[in-house]
This record gives sequence, C-alpha cells and structure tokens, in this order.
Amino acid sequence: MDVPAPGLTTSPRAEIEVDLGAVRHNVRRLRELVWGTEPGSAGQVMVVVKADGYGHGMRQVARAARQAGAQWLGVATPEEALELRAAGDGGRLLCWLAAPGQDFAPLVSADVDVTAYSVAQLEEVVRGAREAGRPARLQLKLDTGLSRGGAPREDWLALATGAKHAQDEGDVVVTGLWSHLACADEPAHPANQSQLDAFADGVALVRDVGLEPEVCHLANSAGALLHPAARHDLVRLGIAVYGFSPAPDVVSGSELGLVPAMTVRARVVIAKDLHAGDGISYGHTAHATEGMRVALVPLGYADGIPRHASSRAEVLLGGARAPVVGRVCMDQLVVAAPEAQAGDEVVLFGAGVHGEPTATEWARWCGTIDYEIVARMRGRQHRTWTGEEQE
Ligand SMILES: *Cc1c(COP(=O)(O)O)cnc(C)c1O
Repeated sequence: MDVPAPGLTTSPRAEIEVDLGAVRHNVRRLRELVWGTEPGSAGQVMVVVKADGYGHGMRQVARAARQAGAQWLGVATPEEALELRAAGDGGRLLCWLAAPGQDFAPLVSADVDVTAYSVAQLEEVVRGAREAGRPARLQLKLDTGLSRGGAPREDWLALATGAKHAQDEGDVVVTGLWSHLACADEPAHPANQSQLDAFADGVALVRDVGLEPEVCHLANSAGALLHPAARHDLVRLGIAVYGFSPAPDVVSGSELGLVPAMTVRARVVIAKDLHAGDGISYGHTAHATEGMRVALVPLGYADGIPRHASSRAEVLLGGARAPVVGRVCMDQLVVAAPEAQAGDEVVLFGAGVHGEPTATEWARWCGTIDYEIVARMRGRQHRTWTGEEQE
C-alpha cells in the first residue's frame, strides 16, 4: 500500500498522525496470514483496542478494524467497553479486567462479553445480569501458565460448574473460554507447548461439565502468527494491527507485510551552533564537539518520549538521522543536526519508509518494546487521523 510522505499537516509544534488505512491494511493482511485467503474460513479475528488503541485512538481504530472485517473488539477495562458502545460500536466486544465490586449490569445491558476469573467474579456477573434483567454473555478465563489473570488450575472445575449452573438458571450464556500465552514471542520456549496442553485440558473440562462455548481462544499477535496450534476459533490481535511484529527478533514487521500506523512529528523551535566543549541539556551529560549545531525539538517525557532515549535515540531531520544529545527533558529534547533551521520538520518515528526511525528502533534504544513506545505517546501532541473510510 502507499505510505504518504511525512508532512506536518496541522499543528505547528508537534503531532501524532495515525494512518487508518494502515490499520485496515494490517487487519486484512493478518487475517490472510492467520486464516488464509480462502473465503469462508471459520476463524475469527479480534482487534485489541485497549489503552486508547495502543495510543492510536480507540474509537478510530475500532471503526477501521470493523471496516476491515474484525468480528470482535477486545478491551481491558469496563470503561473502555462502555466508551466503545457510546461511540456507536454494536459488534461483539470482550472486556477482561474488572476489579472486585464492579457493577456488571451496564456491561450486560450493553451486550458486552465479560470475563470471569473466579467464582467470586462469576457471582458479581450473575448479580449484574439479574439487575439488567437479561443473561450476561460470559467468558471464562483460565490461567494456563502466565500466572497473571485467570483461574488457577485448582479452581477450573469450580468456575466451570458454577458457570454451568448460572447458565442453567438463565443468568449467563457462556460464550467463550480463553487463556493468554506467556512466551509466544519466543517460538522455542517450552512454556508454549505446556500452555497449549493445559488449555486443551481446560477445553475438555469445560465441555465435560456440559458447556459449549462459542469461541475458545488463546493467541495474541505472536501466538497467532508463530503458533498455528494456538489459533483455535479466534485470535486476539493487538500490536500487529498497529504495524509491528510481535517478535521482532524472529521476523520483522515489514517481512510480515505490516505497516506502522503512527507517525510522530514536531517542528524545530530554535537551531544554533555550539562551541566545542559546551555542555548540553540537564546535567551536561553530553558536550558539543567542534562545529556542532543543535536543534531544539518541543517534545519531552511528559509527551511520552522516554527519558531513556537521552543520548541514544535518533530522529529524521532534513533527510538525515539526527541523534538526541543529552538528557530528554519534560517538554523538549536536543538533537545534533548540522543543517537544522528553526521551523524544520522533525520525524521522531513513523512507518520507516522515508528514512525515519520506527518505534521498534526507539524501543531498542530505550531498552523496551515498541508496544510501550506507541502506547505512551499520549501527551500534548495534536493527534490526527488520515485514511478514514467513510461509511
Ligand atoms: C493486550 C492483549 C492482547 C493483545 O496482545 P498483542 O501482543 O498486542 O497482540 C491479547 N489478549 C489479551 C488478553 C491482552 O491483554
């Protein structure tokens, strides 16, 4: 697909541009990679739009995902689910992170599939369903080895029998059974097979108590792409939808045919020549070399630029890579760029096809993952969406 050349379109200072055409392209590409090109494949796709769509805009990404054929959306919190409903999304929608005391009634009324990790949570869902006056769509989450959310193996039987009872009483309809992988981005890790085996046990146990969930699912992006046996009925795609490989050490995003959707740009506030030896930014952790020219970029850690990028990351300025010199500050950072002028456009990261870094490169420089780089871009940048498809 065509990737538009970078161009600061709206804000004179700093902006995040999200290409919804890239999101739709990635959803379609992933469906092909996971479920093949045969029309009529029964495999379903959930696009995970939690955390404001990994920083890309939850509502906008949700719309693009539906347009590209996602049957399901996934979010962490009840608030995110209700926000999607308020925005007009009426498709299948799963949420999975409610704290004790959650009122499930609004979620049941809004036709959200909710998740129970425990018998106590199942009881709260039943209360919500009674209050809403209709059965809750309920999915059960099993812990198969991540040791994070979900019922531990000792509790599987109690949770399944409790859910069957609640279904017989008309309080819930058990729509799904699921779990989450710990090491899917490391294809050879033994935890993968052990979780697949445990999940198979869970599926059998739930069927044994008489439940027939509509969807069993286990795979995130890495599971879906790297472990065909983890695909089951539905894959939950997050990072790959935003254009990144879930396992960059195994396969790159461009090798997968994915296009990063987010570009972060700013304008140089001032450019100046320094004297050799001048200290640069807080703490003078960097010093000017002979003839060094620097440019001030008006983005800092309050805008989501990691402070770990200090003297490590690079940006694209005037067609060339320019290194960050010295510490990243709250609102600004300094780069070395021999030709820089005030007003020049700086691309911090983007699709990577015009010489600009990608969020994956930023992640390496900062000792983190690209998930964190994009999800934390939620500061004072103006955000725009391009490639919106009219309905
Ligand atoms: C965030 C999340 C996903 C998506 O994971 P990716 O690695 O981004 O594909 C899938 N399932 C659950 C339960 C999640 O919390």
